[in-house]
Amino acid sequence: MPIKTAKNRINIGQTIAGNPIDIATYTLAAGKGKRVYIQSGMHGGEITYWVQHKLFLFLKDNLKAGEVTFVPCANPAAWEQRAYFYTFGKFDLYDGKDPNTHFPGKPDGSLHQRIAHALSGITKGCDLGLDLHTARDSLPYVIFTQEKYLPLVKEVGLKYNYLDDGEPSGSFDALMDPLGIDNLCIECGSHDEYDAVKTEQVFAGILRLLARLGMIDKKAAVPAKGDCWYFRDHKKILTREAGYVRYDVALGAPFKKGDTLFTLHPSSDLGAEMPEIAKEDGVMYKRSPTHIYRIGDETLHYIPKDKLKRL
Ligand SMILES: [Zn+2]
Repeated sequence: MPIKTAKNRINIGQTIAGNPIDIATYTLAAGKGKRVYIQSGMHGGEITYWVQHKLFLFLKDNLKAGEVTFVPCANPAAWEQRAYFYTFGKFDLYDGKDPNTHFPGKPDGSLHQRIAHALSGITKGCDLGLDLHTARDSLPYVIFTQEKYLPLVKEVGLKYNYLDDGEPSGSFDALMDPLGIDNLCIECGSHDEYDAVKTEQVFAGILRLLARLGMIDKKAAVPAKGDCWYFRDHKKILTREAGYVRYDVALGAPFKKGDTLFTLHPSSDLGAEMPEIAKEDGVMYKRSPTHIYRIGDETLHYIPKDKLKRL
């Protein structure tokens, strides 16, 4: 069965300058089978385009059954919020809201509600929805909303994965879960980053999902290596003073009670250093993408060792 490629544009409206705001979609189709939807760029500045590009090139020649729809820039408006080299796409600068809180969206609502509505339309009839993001400074991990997705999370095979089964907040899962469609959010690494190893990890994980759905040859999916864990409970540490932080533990590397997690240089005292000592064993899975902190800002997020469950 030859693989068909289609590129489409869905118009949301116009920019102030009168130019179209379009969401581009790319679809690869290889006959009967499952349908997978993959979106990137819901938040401006979170580059997961690398994964989409690699997947698209691979599947263009290797999709055996079904259909994959790629949306490499799900929220074009969020990518236009820029100051100097910094893309501020996590919150809409018009209403202060996170654009990933509007699903399933509104056809006659705000710009971001309309975007969510258009995306909801593209997902119609899919069997699996993947929402690719990046998380501050981090290694790739999956966020999922229900324990029934654990087999899928294990298939992706990333090391530490977050079960966020709290109240739905209007993010992509709030569209998929009520429709009974399997879905995962994959945090593919750090903001505004190119990292070939992380890209490859996520790419390989998605291939395993596609093999599981019978859409590619099983031989193309390399088995995941290493341990796979998930957690529900995690902790974050806020700065005790304003200043500059250097991290002493590495992302994904277990630390022990008594280790120095980071050292704060309080800006009010040139000679001072304030080490932040771990109160328990754990592992840092995410940290803020800056060294510059106000008092009370979030620094690192960690998982206490006793909250990790093996998959
Ligand atoms: Zn995001």
